[in-house]
Amino acid sequence: MKILVFCAAPFQTSPRDQLLPMGSAAMRLLQPARHGPAAWLSSSSARCARLPRLVLGIETSCDDTGAAVLDEAGRVLGEALQSQKDVHLKAGGIIPHVAQQLHRENIQQVVKEALSASGVSVNELAAIATTVKPGLALSLEVGLQYSLQLVDRYQKPFIPIHHMEAHALTIRLTEQVEFPFLVLLLSGGHCILAVARGVSDFLLLGQTIDIAPGDMLDKVARRLSLIKHPECHGMAGGKAIEHLAQTGDWQRYTFRLPMQQYRNCDFSFSGLQSLVNKSIIQKEKEEGIQEGELLSCVEDIAAAVQHVVAAHIIQRTHRAMLFCIKNSILLPKTATLVVSGGVASNQSIRKDLQTLADANGFAFLSPPPRLCTDNGVMIAWNGIERLHAGCGILHSTDGIRYEPNDCECPISEGVQGQIGLGSEQPYLVLDLVVGNPAHS
Ligand code: ADP
Ligand code: MG
Repeated sequence: MKILVFCAAPFQTSPRDQLLPMGSAAMRLLQPARHGPAAWLSSSSARCARLPRLVLGIETSCDDTGAAVLDEAGRVLGEALQSQKDVHLKAGGIIPHVAQQLHRENIQQVVKEALSASGVSVNELAAIATTVKPGLALSLEVGLQYSLQLVDRYQKPFIPIHHMEAHALTIRLTEQVEFPFLVLLLSGGHCILAVARGVSDFLLLGQTIDIAPGDMLDKVARRLSLIKHPECHGMAGGKAIEHLAQTGDWQRYTFRLPMQQYRNCDFSFSGLQSLVNKSIIQKEKEEGIQEGELLSCVEDIAAAVQHVVAAHIIQRTHRAMLFCIKNSILLPKTATLVVSGGVASNQSIRKDLQTLADANGFAFLSPPPRLCTDNGVMIAWNGIERLHAGCGILHSTDGIRYEPNDCECPISEGVQGQIGLGSEQPYLVLDLVVGNPAHS
């Protein structure tokens, strides 16, 4: 075991744990309980009358410290989440060493809360699952070091988790959905279209070639100084845009759709962001105000930005749907579109995707908004999925490392090959659609 130095004390057994006799959580789990939404996955294990296995999930990839304990039927026995959003909003962006410090300050308490709410002691866990990639190096480091201390001390198996795989699989916790399905991941660091073929088997169809939609929305919100808007207090950039868009007129501004000439499933948001910036500068001139002051038309800009982001996402997703059906990757009878990640909590984008799915005979599924943004539940659930599949469970953590991608946007690195994505590149041969599929 690698020796790791970490300033927070290792997990202390809580007084409550000490009072509880060993196996108390097991006793509780034997009592009749509400079945978790994913009970369908473990019906066979329920039949063989052994105790459901329990997994602790830990998430620290960016600016949320999350932990949760789930059983293999998908029951969330305990969870805790500490968001750093307010601090980073005030700072105008995530400052890695500040994020690290806050994770350090919070992780022990967050894990303790999740465990204590679940009534489960670390000894009773089947495994500990933790995000190890991708994300901010300094943030990932805290979660991994803390987890390895627990793993070492309690001699538990460790399940390293890919953050985007966790977003993709969350839907199987909340809905009955079988592989394969088309999954669209929209977050602050990623934009991915893939076919989920198995727990760790993803076929990449497309991804952003520059920044992610959440990153773009955050930057536009900052440029518009929405933090100063009385109705947007404490809202993440994307959430603030969504809120203001409700009362705005999207038709007052038109932004050219990105990537019209590219017949693939990739995305691009940075050119769009520049176009929006130009409009903001123009408007500031017209209104005679400086950067940092609120424009009178922020609602209209927010509505137009949300509209064009949604239209771009819809267009690329439509191509992916057509590609999957045309190539029999998905069958028309069972074809399903799943959307997840922080931006997927946007009700307007969800509605547009629902309409797209309806029009193309796809079922549409998305986790509830609170499970779309980062959380510990999805990490624990990914751990359960891997336990069921028997893959990626480590009994020795020698040499285990986190894998960040510290470029300008913290987690914008493409994931092909990282979440079990094969070497196929269907987007290179995606020429089945002539013209503009989203408008055909
Ligand atoms: P990460 O990108 O670190 O994995 P999340 O998956 O939680 O984090 O996504 C965070 C992103 O989601 C942020 O860019 C935020 O602005 C965006 N977001 C959150 N809520 C909404 C919303 N209602 N509409 C659009 N974007 C949103
Ligand atoms: Mg995320």
